[in-house]
Amino acid sequence: MAPLLEVDDLRVEFGRGADTASVLNGVSYRVEAGETLAVLGESGSGKSVTAQTIMGILDTPPGRITGGAVRFKGEELLGADRERRRLLRGESMAMIFQDALSALNPVYTVGAQIAEQFRFRRGMSKKDAMVRAAELLDQVKIPNASQRVREYPHQFSGGMRQRAMIAMSLALDPELLIADEPTTALDVTVQAQIMELLDELRRERDMGMILITHDLGVVAEVADRIAVMYAGRIVEEADAATLYAHPAHPYTRGLMASVPRLDSSRGQLDPIPGLPPSLTNIPPGCPFHPRCAHAEDRCRTEVPALRQLDDPAAGPEGHRAACHFAERFVAASPEEVLTP
Ligand code: SF4
Ligand code: MG
Repeated sequence: MAPLLEVDDLRVEFGRGADTASVLNGVSYRVEAGETLAVLGESGSGKSVTAQTIMGILDTPPGRITGGAVRFKGEELLGADRERRRLLRGESMAMIFQDALSALNPVYTVGAQIAEQFRFRRGMSKKDAMVRAAELLDQVKIPNASQRVREYPHQFSGGMRQRAMIAMSLALDPELLIADEPTTALDVTVQAQIMELLDELRRERDMGMILITHDLGVVAEVADRIAVMYAGRIVEEADAATLYAHPAHPYTRGLMASVPRLDSSRGQLDPIPGLPPSLTNIPPGCPFHPRCAHAEDRCRTEVPALRQLDDPAAGPEGHRAACHFAERFVAASPEEVLTP
């Protein structure tokens, strides 16, 4: 059976001529029903652009899809017409964003915004649609849902607004939910509650979930697999346990060193030196080489392919990394090698 979602060698550019930015440079990943893939990387690594391309909401122009495929249950989406894409959005795949306040319309009640989908896509009466909206608010654990359904977005706290947006995204029972930095704007306690809620909903509904984040700490509890992106490429992918226990790419190791770890004796955090490259001028060879403490001559000229590693400890999906010397790192504990 075809996977729920398959992204295959996706390429996206922005701009023209000398200003062309190579935003996605051959991104491939898969998500199965009931599975959570966390996509991790710094801002500008291409995580959100990949998600927008999957959803069919990438602005073109300025964006331009120059290659690859996005298949949903085997159906190619990149060539599909607008009407088909519009139908799939909401019904089959939905997306939630960091900023619930700007995603919700301030002049309508939260309930009316959720109910709208039941009215227009399911032909329900206004009254029935509001009842369904209240049920959904209850499912996302908003207390007194039958009253709060009549309130406006500004009457909700940040965490409650995020719950309302989750409810809205689930209205038409999508099989795939993409959450783009869903907790970034929230405080730590609320972050954990939202992640727990998403995880629970994913399980109850057997949804596939893509969780986009720059924060490795946020996804630790809920990710089945993790794909790490850098400069529009996937540089490492493995099941979560493998990636945490023995990351193979120096960039992943750098991300891990900049997250507080409960099981670590190292008190101090080491952020990765330097900045991600400009996408109009990606360095030759390994795009990470200007920031990599382990770069050698070969790294400056030869692009490392994303390849399957010989890692007997990895799960059935294996362990992929795009580093010439990945074998050297995969055998070391996360804190070894990293500090030169
Ligand atoms: Fe570092 Fe070279 Fe590996 Fe790139 S290929 S991550 S520069 S060691
Ligand atoms: Mg983003």
